[in-house]
Amino acid sequence: MNPVEIIIKKRDGYILTEEEITFFVDRFHKKEIKDYQMSAWLMASFIRGLSKEETRNLISAILSTGKTLEWDFPVLDKHSTGGVGDKLSLVVVPLLASIGFKVAKLSGRGLGHTGGTIDKLESIPGFRVNLSLEEFKKIVEEVGCSIISQTEDLVPVEKDIYSLRDVTGTVDSIPLITSSILSKKIAGGAKTIVFDVKVGSGAFMKNIKDAEELTSWLIEIGRSFGREVKAVISDMDQPLGCAIGNLLEVIEAIETLKGEGPQDLKELAIEIASTVAPKEIVREAFESGKAFSKFEEMVKAQGGDISNLVPLAKVYNLSLEGSGYIERLDAYLIGEAVRTLGAGRYRKEDLIDPNVGIILKKKVGDYIEKGETILEIYYNSKETLKKAMELLRKAISINKDEVRKRTLIYSVYS
Ligand code: URA
Repeated sequence: MNPVEIIIKKRDGYILTEEEITFFVDRFHKKEIKDYQMSAWLMASFIRGLSKEETRNLISAILSTGKTLEWDFPVLDKHSTGGVGDKLSLVVVPLLASIGFKVAKLSGRGLGHTGGTIDKLESIPGFRVNLSLEEFKKIVEEVGCSIISQTEDLVPVEKDIYSLRDVTGTVDSIPLITSSILSKKIAGGAKTIVFDVKVGSGAFMKNIKDAEELTSWLIEIGRSFGREVKAVISDMDQPLGCAIGNLLEVIEAIETLKGEGPQDLKELAIEIASTVAPKEIVREAFESGKAFSKFEEMVKAQGGDISNLVPLAKVYNLSLEGSGYIERLDAYLIGEAVRTLGAGRYRKEDLIDPNVGIILKKKVGDYIEKGETILEIYYNSKETLKKAMELLRKAISINKDEVRKRTLIYSVYS
């Protein structure tokens, strides 16, 4: 088989066979197919699309380059397609473990303007995200849940393909996203996977139609690999909750687990957990404090200490010139502003500042008086503060007329 012929076949819109896809991924993994050839194939696949069968074959090909985790008991994984202020994993993982599920989560770092669970957890002093797979398994068995960083040996080729997608404009393709997410989830060995598919300006899927399509691909292809797959489609046009930035999000997740956090975060956590358990049991786990105790147990097992979480940053209160109802808090631009402050990366080697970020004091539909604080900016350099403010001013708009609160949950597939 010849790699150039495979690229040409996809470029011309033909369906690739299982053998061709397996060959292409395997030779790329062995470095016999070069980055520029994989990039060309990715662009051809982005433009021409991949069928569900091709996507399934791509996932199998990716899986065969690494190893799959084996568990002695059924485990569950929860995955978000990525958002701004999305600290749900920190809430849902211990919540489900507190009602008896074994939750094993392999997580990533921030991608682009979106935050990553691993970066958030690393803002907890002492928290170890790079456990050995043996230690990970032991904590899942004994505590009921653990979250670690995606390990190199599970599906190493997925990371190499993603790095090329990131720099060749081929990220937001439904087949490629499906193959990227499902290959990692299947390699993690979860029997049940719960997806939170985000839609809106801060998400990869910008409209409901695309979000529904991605969800149906994740469900159908995930199930064809013998997994139980559940999903929720939720809003990412404005950030989730009020805190955006690593340590600030951990603090908000803890407040939510203690029953004090923002309503949208709690509501969505309950809805996601209720795709696999009765709602009354989920609510009880929240209200009794069981979910919070489970979080504490997991943090302790992974070496973390949450007794003194204080962001080391200066605070600037941003207010508006006029008054009115908040019409837009653009999640993408707010995510970019927070990245500018130092909470995210521009290059993979960039160091992040766990202390910086934003706390929203208002959400879409709220009324704001002239001069009232709309958000607090936690910053550590005047230069980044200035750049962030420019983005934030573009992210916010108000209206004299009343504005409806945004819908939080669009669909539930349980
Ligand atoms: N998240 C992933 O893990 N992969 C994608 O391709 C997009 C979002």
